[in-house]
Amino acid sequence: MLQIKNMLVDVDALLALSHTCQPENCDRRQSCCATYEVPLERGEGARVLGLLSDAARYAKGLREQDEFVDPLDEGDVGPCLVTDESGKCLFAYTKKGATLCSLHSAALDLDLPPYRMKPRACSLWPLAITDDAPQVLTVQDSVLTFPCNSSRRKGAKRLHSGVADTIREVFGESFLTELQEAINAAS
Ligand code: SF4
Repeated sequence: MLQIKNMLVDVDALLALSHTCQPENCDRRQSCCATYEVPLERGEGARVLGLLSDAARYAKGLREQDEFVDPLDEGDVGPCLVTDESGKCLFAYTKKGATLCSLHSAALDLDLPPYRMKPRACSLWPLAITDDAPQVLTVQDSVLTFPCNSSRRKGAKRLHSGVADTIREVFGESFLTELQEAINAAS
């Protein structure tokens, strides 16, 4: 474990993961958007509601006749996003065979940073933050069953580009730089 800012980082788990998002390969059983209950952190429900009308232009399940559906629910551990009967997030939609996020698409339309507009759990995946104190940045359980993830050879000294991109989008460039420098120093 390495401490970066106020978070512990499970470096071994991160270095061992290769991730390349390929939405065209998602199907109902393999898409992260159809697998998890998406928990909402403080303020994320309001942010999601603020994008609802723009997102509904992509994800048709967000409308019922002339009304928007309530996309927020109460899950096992607090507020979360609603899913359809198959377990797929109502904000997911399909375009040319690719499973995409309507919050992400709406944010791009509005010139907003998509990874800051989606729930953090979504932006982080396949990484995750534990509920421990202090929190630990690690890899979500069972992600190797998804086609976009694979394990890397032991002894890698740099994060895979897909993992590094995820960390940059969620925590910023300085966090990523500090983490990679700490990995270099420890190896
Ligand atoms: S909010 Fe977007 S990224 Fe998150 S599960 Fe729903 S469709 Fe997928």
